[in-house]
Amino acid sequence: MRITTLAGGVGGARFLRGLLHHVRRSTDLQGTRLTVIGNTGDDITLFGLRVCPDIDTLLYTLGGGVHEGQGWGRADETHEVAGELAQLGATPSWFTLGDRDFATHIYRSQLLGQGMPLSAVITLLSRRWGLDAQGVSLLPMTDTPVETHVVVADTAGGAEGGRRAIHFQEWWVRHQARLPAERFVVAGLDRATPAPGVLDAIRTADLLLLPPSNPVVSIGIILGVPGVRDAMRGTTAPVVGVSPLVAGRPVRGYADACLAAIGVESTSSGVAGLYADFLDGWLVDEADPMPSGIRGRAPQVAHRPLLMSSVDAAADIAGAAVELGVALRARDRSV
Ligand code: GDP
Ligand code: CA
Repeated sequence: MRITTLAGGVGGARFLRGLLHHVRRSTDLQGTRLTVIGNTGDDITLFGLRVCPDIDTLLYTLGGGVHEGQGWGRADETHEVAGELAQLGATPSWFTLGDRDFATHIYRSQLLGQGMPLSAVITLLSRRWGLDAQGVSLLPMTDTPVETHVVVADTAGGAEGGRRAIHFQEWWVRHQARLPAERFVVAGLDRATPAPGVLDAIRTADLLLLPPSNPVVSIGIILGVPGVRDAMRGTTAPVVGVSPLVAGRPVRGYADACLAAIGVESTSSGVAGLYADFLDGWLVDEADPMPSGIRGRAPQVAHRPLLMSSVDAAADIAGAAVELGVALRARDRSV
C-alpha cells in the first residue's frame, strides 16, 4: 500500500511514528511505502543558519533521536553553543538550539549555500536517520523558501490601529501565541512550487492521511502551496484525517488561537470543515461530540480515544485511520 501524509512537527511526527509501528505489527501492511510531505512554513534563519523545525522534528522522531519530553530537539542534548552566543549578546535568545541540533542546521546551511535544493538536503538527512530503511520518503512541501508571518497589533509609541507582521516562530515561541493574531501571511507561498515528488505522491497514493497536525499553521500551509489542494481534491484515493482536539482542546500548543485568527471555531467540526472539499473519513476523540454541519461532502466519522500517550496508543489511532481508509476504498470500489 502507498500511503501519503501531510505533516507538521510534534503532532505529525508522533502520529507517523505510531503509523510505522502499526505497519510493522500488521501482516497485511507489509511492504507499505509512506511518503511524508512536511511543512516548511515554520522555517527560519537564525545566526545565519537555516532551521526547519517541523522537518527536523519528523527526522528526529522517526529516526529515534528526539527528546521525548519536549517532543522536538535532540535527546541527550547540551547547550554550550547557545551559552556562548548569549555571552556574545547574539540574538534572538528566545529560540532554543542545542549543540547536536546545531550540527543539523550547519550541515543544511552549508549544502543550501552550495546550491543544493532543500529536498535533496532532506534526502541526505533522511539517510542519516534511517528513514529510507523504514520505507519512508520525507519531502518538504516546497524547495522555495517560504515563511509564515503573523499580523498583530502594533502599539509601539502609543499608535492606534497600527499593524506589524512578525515571524511565526516569534509569535509562537517568544509570545506563546498571546498576542492576538489578526491573520497569517505566508511570505513566498504564492510563487512556491511543490517540491519534486509532492504532487505525484498525492496522485498515486492508495490512501491519504492527515495526522492531528495544526490545521492552520501546519496542514493549512502545505495545502496553500499552489497545486497541492487541487491534487488533494482530484485524488481518487480516500483521505482520512485525525482531529487534533482531545476533549475539545488542542493537546499542546495553541491551535485554538490559530483557529480563532481565521474565524473558525475550535471544535472537531470546525477543523473538519477546513478540509471539507476533500475529506472522506474523520477520526474524532471519544470525548468530543459527533461533528455536525460540515460543509461539502460529509466525511464518514469514527469515534476513538485520540490521546497519543505512548507509541502504542499512537499506533492504535493510526491503525484506526488506516482501517477507515481501507473500508472507504472497498466501498468506493463496490459502487
Ligand atoms: P507542531 O508543528 O510541532 O506544532 O506540530 P503539529 O502541527 O504536527 O501538531 C500540533 C497539533 O498536534 C496540536 O494542535 C495538537 O492538538 C495535536 N496533538 C498533539 N498531541 C496530540 C495527541 O496526543 N492527540 C491528538 N489527537 N492531537 C495531538
Ligand atoms: Ca510547526
